[in-house]
Amino acid sequence: MTRGGRWLVAITGLAALAAAAVYAPIPCLGHIRVPVRIGTPAGGRVEKSDDEWRAALTPEQYRVTRRQGTERAFCGALLTQKADGVYSCVCCGQPLFDAGGRFESGTGWPSFFRPVDDNAVSLYEERDAFGVRTEVTCSRCDAHLGQVFADGPRPTGRRYCTNSAALAFTPRPAP
Ligand SMILES: [Zn+2]
Repeated sequence: MTRGGRWLVAITGLAALAAAAVYAPIPCLGHIRVPVRIGTPAGGRVEKSDDEWRAALTPEQYRVTRRQGTERAFCGALLTQKADGVYSCVCCGQPLFDAGGRFESGTGWPSFFRPVDDNAVSLYEERDAFGVRTEVTCSRCDAHLGQVFADGPRPTGRRYCTNSAALAFTPRPAP
C-alpha cells in the first residue's frame, strides 16, 4: 500500500469511529435505577403481567405508565383541568393527587406540590447519560407517573411533574 493509501485508510477509520460515537449510545453510561422511598399503599398491592396491563390500557396509557414514557408537553388531556377533584392512578385506581395540591407550573405537564399521601407514591433515583432525576411511581402498581423536582412552591418546595395519561380525574361532588 502506498503512503497515500495508508492515510486514506486511517482517515476513513477515524471518520467511522467519529460517526459511531455520535450515533451510538455511549455503552459505559448505563441506566441505573435505585429506590429512594417505597410507599406502602392503602389496600395492598396490585400486580399484573405485562400482557394484562397492555390489554387493560390504551396504547398511550401503556406507553407512559408501563414503559416509562413521557407525553408531549402541553398536549395532555388533564393539563387544563381546573375543577375540584381527585387524580387517581389510571392503572389501579389508587388516589394519588388532589386538586388542592395542584399548581400551574407552566411546564406543559400537570404539576402538584404534594401527593394525597406520601405512601401513595414511590420514588426512584435514576441516573443515565442525561443526568440524575427522581422518578415518581404509583406505590400500589408501580405505574410510572413522572418525575419530582425540588423547584416547587411552598409548603413542600416539590414539583411532581406528571403525565395526564397516567391519571384519571374524578370531580368532587358539590356539597
Ligand atoms: Zn397504580
